[in-house]
Amino acid sequence: MYEVMVEGSFSAAHNLRGYRKKCEKLHGHNWKVRVGVRGGNLDRTGMLIDFKEVKNYLERIMEKLDHKYLNEISHFKVTNPTSENIARFIYNELKSRLKGSHYRVSKVTVWESDTTSATYFQDKKDVE
Ligand SMILES: [Zn+2]
Repeated sequence: MYEVMVEGSFSAAHNLRGYRKKCEKLHGHNWKVRVGVRGGNLDRTGMLIDFKEVKNYLERIMEKLDHKYLNEISHFKVTNPTSENIARFIYNELKSRLKGSHYRVSKVTVWESDTTSATYFQDKKDVE
C-alpha cells in the first residue's frame, strides 16, 4: 500500500455550543490540515496520485473555511465546529472530489494548536 500526504492550513473563528468552558466563547485558530490518500497501485508514471491534484482539491475545500466564522457555515449550524467535525467535513468533501479508481481518502487530521489534533478516518466496519 502507498499513502500520499498533503498539508494545508486555514484561519477561522468558532465557538463551541454547549461546552461550558473557555471555548464556548468566540475565538480563533490557525488550523493545520493533513490529508492522506491511500492505494495499492501506482499509475504509469509511478505515482499514486499527483500531489498537485490533492493540493488543489484541499485548497478549494479550505477556501470554504478560511477567514470564516465556522458556526455560520451551513454544515456547522447544527454540528459543532470541533476539530473532529472539521476533519470529517474535509474528509467527506475530499472524498466526493477524488474520483480515482485505485485510491481513496484514508484520513484527515486537523490541528487546532501545535500540540492538539483530531483525525477522522473510516474503519472497514464503519457505516456512513
Ligand atoms: Zn477553539
